[in-house]
Amino acid sequence: MRNRCDAFNLLDAPWLPVLFTDGTCRRLGIIETLTSAHRIRDIATSSPLDRVSILRFLLALLYWSRGGPPALQPGTLESRWFDKLREHEDRFALLGDETRFYQTRTSRLRPVTDLIHEIPTANNFAHFMHVVDGQVGLCLACCAMGLLRLPLFAVSGTGGVLAGINGVPPFYVLVEGPSLLATLHLNWKPCEDLGNPSWEKPLYGCQTGERVPLLEGLTALARRVWLGAPVENDMVCVRCGTNELPVLAECGFEGADRYAAGGWIDPHVLYSRDKGKAIRPPNPLPSGKFVSSRPWTSLDQCLVEAGSSTSGVRANTAIRVYAFACNQALAVDAFERVVVPPSDPMSMDASMGFLNTWKDAASRLLPASACRSKKLRQAIVMDVLRHVDHVVSDRVGRNGGRDGLLEWANQAFAPLLNAVARSAVSGATVDATRRRATIANAQPLRRSTNANRADPATEEDHEHSC
Ligand SMILES: [Zn+2]
Repeated sequence: MRNRCDAFNLLDAPWLPVLFTDGTCRRLGIIETLTSAHRIRDIATSSPLDRVSILRFLLALLYWSRGGPPALQPGTLESRWFDKLREHEDRFALLGDETRFYQTRTSRLRPVTDLIHEIPTANNFAHFMHVVDGQVGLCLACCAMGLLRLPLFAVSGTGGVLAGINGVPPFYVLVEGPSLLATLHLNWKPCEDLGNPSWEKPLYGCQTGERVPLLEGLTALARRVWLGAPVENDMVCVRCGTNELPVLAECGFEGADRYAAGGWIDPHVLYSRDKGKAIRPPNPLPSGKFVSSRPWTSLDQCLVEAGSSTSGVRANTAIRVYAFACNQALAVDAFERVVVPPSDPMSMDASMGFLNTWKDAASRLLPASACRSKKLRQAIVMDVLRHVDHVVSDRVGRNGGRDGLLEWANQAFAPLLNAVARSAVSGATVDATRRRATIANAQPLRRSTNANRADPATEEDHEHSC
């Protein structure tokens, strides 16, 4: 066991999950991941939190090893580029008595699962996953991925722990390429002031207004962590299920110092154009109840606003947006979405207006007479809205004019409303048939006010609808 642990150096040990362009998946060390980047389609994790954390980490390694990017995308990242990594191999050891990767000794013991947001702890019970602290553990690969999350997604909570350098986690945005190499190259920008990454010189806080160089900001640590000794029994990793790597149950875990605002601009964060504040995913549990519509509309608006920011958001270039929403210290939601901003900002603005109209109309989708139970009506509208949010906003900016969008939206939702009608109203009576037809034929958007006047019955339905 000891040999396997001591040998677990992140440069070569297999811990980064990758998907190759031929469809195969493997875990690789850092060096092999970088030198194979032209053959890798993507990072193969199911969590958006890991994907963006790993991509930013690989980018930081490139900046540290090579400085700025080559003018043209290279065919491969050659292994000689990473001699600096080899020279500092000791900085990437996960365990051992000497220098460890992203770790510093601390005496406050916690379950090692504190590194992973989706694994509950203490007496939290409202989860899909149930575990008992101390009786489950993480393999070395999952511990390393948990350490990579800390600079991006640590939130403030009990015990005096504070958020990371970006505060409450904002939307993170990276330009998307057809391979890992292309993705890294597209997000690798010239930079004069790199500084030292935390694997070289750990950063655990900064003063108000203190300028933070790029590598320090990308790797700023939000927790002091010291991984415990691997357990001696045959425990499997509670996160990935492997029994091929040593598993840990505990770690030293306490807060870092405060990151005061003012000295750090994150290259992957969206900042509002007018106030310069980081844009964050809304809390979907504002009143204790889950709001089922995702924030697509406001997200699209943010992307338009941030068009000239440092994030590299450009028209007709696919970008991937990563979001982590929390309710104070409680992790609530994580999602990822690929967006292609349109080339015509006017068309984007028009589409935004349309989306908001559609959302208003959808809330009046079902006339009161069609579905008598108010609770059922509300549940159906929420289900439809979730679909509208996703599908309509995906089309934003791609259609010419409001009328085209309107026509398309009404057509697109006709089959959905048919299904809603069948599930909401059962029976073969005349009344049930009429109510089903009312739901199925609902058109939440009308082309013009003349058309509304020509159909007073429908207008009345809408005035008295939910
Ligand atoms: Zn694992």
